[in-house]
Amino acid sequence: MARYNSILDTIGNTPLIRLGRMAPRHVNLYVKVESFNPMGSVKDRMARAIIEDAEQSGALTPGQTVIEATSGNTGIGLAMVCAQKGYPLVVTMAENFSVERRKMLRFLGAKVVLTPASEKGTGMLTKAEELAAQHGYFLCRQFDNPANARVHTETTVPEIIRDLQGDPLHTFVTGFGTGGTLNGVATGLRRVSPDTEIVAAEPDNAQVLGSGIPQPRDEQGKPTGSHPNFKPHLMQGWSPDFISGLTEEAVANGFVDSIQPVPGDLAMQTARRLAQDEGIFAGTSSGATLAAALAIAESAPNGANIVCMLPDTGERYLSTPLFADIGEDMNADELELSRSTQGFRFDTRSAPSPAVAAQPVTLDKSAEAFVKSAPTQAPVVMFALEWCEFCWSARNLLSEMGVEFISVDLDSVAYQADDRGNKIRAVLAEQTGSPTIPQVYVDGEHIGGCTELFDIQRDGQLDTALNKLGVSFTPYNEDPYALLPKWLHTRAS
Ligand code: PMP
Repeated sequence: MARYNSILDTIGNTPLIRLGRMAPRHVNLYVKVESFNPMGSVKDRMARAIIEDAEQSGALTPGQTVIEATSGNTGIGLAMVCAQKGYPLVVTMAENFSVERRKMLRFLGAKVVLTPASEKGTGMLTKAEELAAQHGYFLCRQFDNPANARVHTETTVPEIIRDLQGDPLHTFVTGFGTGGTLNGVATGLRRVSPDTEIVAAEPDNAQVLGSGIPQPRDEQGKPTGSHPNFKPHLMQGWSPDFISGLTEEAVANGFVDSIQPVPGDLAMQTARRLAQDEGIFAGTSSGATLAAALAIAESAPNGANIVCMLPDTGERYLSTPLFADIGEDMNADELELSRSTQGFRFDTRSAPSPAVAAQPVTLDKSAEAFVKSAPTQAPVVMFALEWCEFCWSARNLLSEMGVEFISVDLDSVAYQADDRGNKIRAVLAEQTGSPTIPQVYVDGEHIGGCTELFDIQRDGQLDTALNKLGVSFTPYNEDPYALLPKWLHTRAS
C-alpha cells in the first residue's frame, strides 16, 4: 500500500475473487468486486474520469456547479469527486430510488432534486438538462459521455488481464445502465483478448436489447421516450427506460456476443447466496449479474475462466426489496435460542442481582443546590446525556415545537471536572426515584423521562403548561413517539 495524496487515488484496482462455493466445479468463476472503490461502487471510476476529462477540455471551470441525472451510485461517486475538488454538485433523481442514496448524497454536500417516479429515467434526465441550461451548470451526460466508457478501457480491462496472470478470459459478464462498463470493457477486451465472449445481462421483464427493437430517437439522436419493451424492474442501476448512446454503440460495434435475461427474484436470491455462501456483500444488480454468469457457467467448457462484474455494495439496499425478508426482531429460531439459557431473556425478569448491603449515600451539597436551581432556568430543562438516543428524541420534540429549553448534558466536558456530572446524577436519582436519563422538568416541575414528556405532549398537558407560562411554541401534531430512532420503537412505545 502506498500513501495516497487524495481519496481519488484509491479508485480502481478492485479485487478479482474466485467463487469457491457457488460456482460449478468445472469452471473458474471470478467476480470483480467494485464495492472496494472508496464510495462503494463501480461508478467512482466514471465520476473521476468525467470530471477530469471536462477539466482538461475546459468544459468545466473552477468553482462551476456540476449536475447529473443519476439513480444514486454515479451521484455518490460524483459527490466524492466534487467534494474533493471543490465543485458544488446538484443531482436529479427519481423519487423511487432508495432513501439511503439521497441521504448519502446530501451528507457529501450535494443537492438532490427529486423527480416523479412516473416520469422514469427520462424525467430525471430532462430535469437535469433544464437546470443545466437555466443555471449554466456542467452536465455530465453519463449515458453518452465517452469518458465513461474510456475509463473502463483504460483501467478495468488492464486490471482484469493483469490479475488473470496470463490465463485466457473466456467470458465477461456485465449488466448495463449507462453502458459505460459494457462499452468500455468490451472495447478494451476486443483489443487485448479478442476471443473473449461478451455477455450483456438484462432484466427478463424488460428486454430492451433482447427485443432487437431500436431506441426511438429524434433528429438530434435524443431518446423520444421510453423504449417500447421497457417495464419497471428490480435491478436498480440496470436498464433505464431507454437504450443509452454508449450501450447502442457497443451493440452497433458487434461487442455484445450474447444477451442473458435475468428474473428479479433470482437476482435477489443470488445476492443473498453470495453474501451467505461466499461472504461477499453486494447489491441487487450484482446478484443479477452473477445469476447471469452462473447460467452461462453451466454450459461453459471445462476450465473456462469467467469474469463477472459486481457493481456495488449491498449496504445501499437496506430499504429495498433485497432486504424485504430480513427481519428486525428475533424470528422463531432466534427466540428459541434465546430461551435455551436462563439469563438475559425477554420472557422472564432479569436474574436478581446479588444482594448488596445498602451503602449510605452522601450526596454532594453543591450538586444538590444545582438540581434545585437548574430546573427554574428555562421553561423546559432536561438533565441529559450528549449521546443518549432518548435525550436526542426529547430534544427533537422540543426543537420541533420551538420551545426554549436547556439540556444539561451531564457527560459533556463542562461537567467532567471533579466528577460533577455523576454527582448531579446521584442527586437526581435520589430525588426523582429514577436512575434513568433524561429527567425532564417543565416550569420547574419534575415530569419524568422521555416517554413521560411524549405522553404529556400527546394528551395536551405540555401545551397547557407552556400556555400558562406564556411561552410561545408551535403546536406539534404528529406522534412524538415517531421521533425515537427506528430501532427503539418496539421497545419504547
Ligand atoms: N449496477 C449498479 C448498481 C449501478 O449503479 C450501475 C450504474 N448505473 C450499473 C449496475 C451499470 O453500470 P454502467 O452504467 O457502467 O452500465
